[in-house]
Amino acid sequence: MPDFDYDLITIGAGSGGIRASRLSASLGAKVAVVEESRVGGTCVMRGCVPKKLLVHGAHFAEDFEDAAGFGWSPGKPGFDWPTLIKNKNTELDRLEGIYNRILRENKVTLLDGRGKLVDAHTVEVAGKKYTADKILIATGGWPSMPDIPGIEHVISSNEALDLAELPRRMVIVGGGYIAVEFAGIFNALGVQVTEIIRAGNILRGFDEDVREFLAEEMEKKGVTILRDCVVRSIEKEADGSFSLRLANGENLATDLIMYATGRAPNTRGIGLEEVGVRMNGKGAIEVNEKFETSVPGIYALGDITDRLQLTPVALAEGRVLADNLFGGKTLSMDYADVPTAVFSSPPIGTVGLSEAQAREQYGEVDIYVSRFRPLKHTLSGRDELTFMKLIVDAATDRVLGCHMVGADSAEIVQGLAIALKCRATKAQFDATIGIHPTAAEEFVTLREKRPEHQN
Ligand code: NDP
Repeated sequence: MPDFDYDLITIGAGSGGIRASRLSASLGAKVAVVEESRVGGTCVMRGCVPKKLLVHGAHFAEDFEDAAGFGWSPGKPGFDWPTLIKNKNTELDRLEGIYNRILRENKVTLLDGRGKLVDAHTVEVAGKKYTADKILIATGGWPSMPDIPGIEHVISSNEALDLAELPRRMVIVGGGYIAVEFAGIFNALGVQVTEIIRAGNILRGFDEDVREFLAEEMEKKGVTILRDCVVRSIEKEADGSFSLRLANGENLATDLIMYATGRAPNTRGIGLEEVGVRMNGKGAIEVNEKFETSVPGIYALGDITDRLQLTPVALAEGRVLADNLFGGKTLSMDYADVPTAVFSSPPIGTVGLSEAQAREQYGEVDIYVSRFRPLKHTLSGRDELTFMKLIVDAATDRVLGCHMVGADSAEIVQGLAIALKCRATKAQFDATIGIHPTAAEEFVTLREKRPEHQN
């Protein structure tokens, strides 16, 4: 066996890379992680964590209004965006410190700089070469935008998390997770938000009822959604504002433009082509079920492989890889029934199949839906509804999909995801006693199938 500096070198200290490195080290491997930016990666530094803190921050706008119906007179609340950003950044610094400590305590060496593959066992970092028996690529993704004239004037979610001040008007282009989440944040904070989507509705791939319901609620809250709308070019005006030229010939004026049109795998400039690592048409690294790339000894996981771009998936992949490489196990990932949430306003929680997917895969399905005003809003007076939907295989009674749009949906659906993993039937949902009064109890008290003619 050749003498390597390390058993494993991981390029990229994001969720998947850190998890795989830390667990590998705890299993006795000598590990180094290469990171050119901050330890923590997209989720901790530019994604899930700061975004969710801003979601909490923005929601107070409604909370103060809602309090009046319960007898509170909070007066006109003041809001200071720089304070929210400063406090959010302090929390990110704290988390970065924790991740650094975790790596240190597990004896993982942190190599500062950009990692570049030299060959299947060598990585160059800041002009120095390091060798390893195995190399893991976990460099994640980066916002991708269409190449239209004026695109240099727009920001991505990265910059939106650190704006110096809130704009008066804002255009968000895209209809995915990031676009609807940021539309909710900025709209709640008083920004006039216009969301531009090229399709007929937001959140392609989600259940159709969920898509429609969320779009309605967002519009009720004041977000303007321009459907079937394509931006041709962007111009900066003399006063610092922007003008978007739309494909339908109209112009739209705004003060800030954010693009959330997907994320591309971070594969450039790290020596992948040179070493012969195969990538697919979307530029993502191709891996098999063991996370092996086309080059023996080089592995990849997380967003760089463009499977499910979700932190908990990358974490689970990191565990599987470490256990298999250094723990003598032969685990594999199960990508079925991965629950997910969109922290829109109101949020979505979902697990399992959409109605369309269920019909395609199972044929006859029973649909249960509920749309109601949450108890809290009977006093707050807020015109916000909650939506729930269960999709059940008519032949076996197995619940195939649970979908919710409304307060706490992410928290509620996490529990339901266990039920789906256990292949729970509708009869077992029905046999479960509800917790009263909650919204969650609705999931175990849905008795009326949606009539055939409404399907
Ligand atoms: P998504 O892939 O979710 O959505 C991209 C959106 O951009 C779609 O609406 C798509 O439209 C649109 N789009 C793509 N290309 C263009 C174009 N050239 N012009 C106009 N519109 C375009 O990407 P996001 O950037 O929102 O998020 C990336 C990923 O990050 C998500 O898929 C998700 O996996 C993950 N994420 C998860 C979160 C969570 O768990 N809460 C939060 C944020 C991100 P169309 O539908 O027509 O293709």
